[in-house]
Amino acid sequence: MIPDLPPPLAERLSGLRIAARSEPIGLYLHVPFCLDRCTYCSFATTRDRSLQPQTTARLIAQVRAWGAALDRPAVDTLYLGGGTPSLLSARELADLTTALHDAFDLTPLVEATFEANPGTVDLAWLQGARDLGWDRVSLGVQALDDGLLGRLGRIHGAAQALDALDLTLQAGFRRRSADLMVGIPGQSLSKVVEDARTLTATGIDHLSVYLLDLDKACPLRAEIDAGRLALPSEDEVADVFEALQEELPRLGLAPYEISNYARPGGESIHNTRYWERRPYLGLGPSAASQLGDFRWTESSVIPAWTEGRGELDFQELDAAETLAEIPLLGLRLHRGVDWGALHRKAEALNLRPLCDGWEARLRALAKEGLTVWEGDRVRLSARGMLMSNGILQMFV
Ligand code: SF4
Repeated sequence: MIPDLPPPLAERLSGLRIAARSEPIGLYLHVPFCLDRCTYCSFATTRDRSLQPQTTARLIAQVRAWGAALDRPAVDTLYLGGGTPSLLSARELADLTTALHDAFDLTPLVEATFEANPGTVDLAWLQGARDLGWDRVSLGVQALDDGLLGRLGRIHGAAQALDALDLTLQAGFRRRSADLMVGIPGQSLSKVVEDARTLTATGIDHLSVYLLDLDKACPLRAEIDAGRLALPSEDEVADVFEALQEELPRLGLAPYEISNYARPGGESIHNTRYWERRPYLGLGPSAASQLGDFRWTESSVIPAWTEGRGELDFQELDAAETLAEIPLLGLRLHRGVDWGALHRKAEALNLRPLCDGWEARLRALAKEGLTVWEGDRVRLSARGMLMSNGILQMFV
């Protein structure tokens, strides 16, 4: 039994155990510390690192407690995100990794990713992580323009980002991803494409391309609201995504999800599990979990989480919600959704009319060139991907 397991989870422990044993799960661990706060960030993270020893100790304790509570389930993907996991000391990372091996069955492990900020990595730390078995690194580059990076409040410049990518290679990482951001005030279309080319030339096997998404409370939003900076228009942003859709495959990176491109075999196995609705356990402030029909998010208040008194946001999905999540998430993938299988599932759940309603709308969208039906499968077209927010609303 986990000592501080909140009631909604304690009451459902047997169901959680069954879900965690149905197939290998993914494990996400959130490290909520950063050297500085980026101007656009709304993640659960802080630059107050005085809490780092206690927060990391609780994270390690939670790894051990959850491993015991779920009967040491099998794990096939690990993801250390944040925040800035590369701010963990070598000792903290080693202790966390040892706890993972002790508490979970890592025999089926196929991928162990950590996120890193280019302003925090050095060769010795990276080699240490590699020696501990972490085999994939995701580097938050965002842009290769010092002016734009300064506007975003990033702690690194463009040259440092490229140096960091080089260090990851020297440390022996063959699986390397970079993040690129679209929609930064002052960013030009040609510069995004040029940055994508430069990053691809470093030999990365994966690129994530995200639209700048501004929370109401972040400093960059205040600058925009005050009229000191302007966001690019929707048309300009759509042009960038279209240009990348054309250019990246030419550079060897094929799209496999709305925001993600990879060389063959370079797809993120951990992130793909979210879109395939496979089970995962998330530990740390703001971390989300989904086991069976249970979903919960831990408190994003870092001191509260660290002291074990954070509020849990718990949800038990009903059959219709579970069914809707399959196309809601699956249509983000370029291979789309097996609609025949969805139909059979809907029939078994007595939800055939719901499924038929979605199908009618997806078939109507095919006439507008936004979806593509191939036999029993349906996927979004390249233009449908650009308009996915609106299309996927039907499943919410
Ligand atoms: S490094 Fe990442 S998590 Fe940290 S403040 Fe910047 S965007 Fe947020």
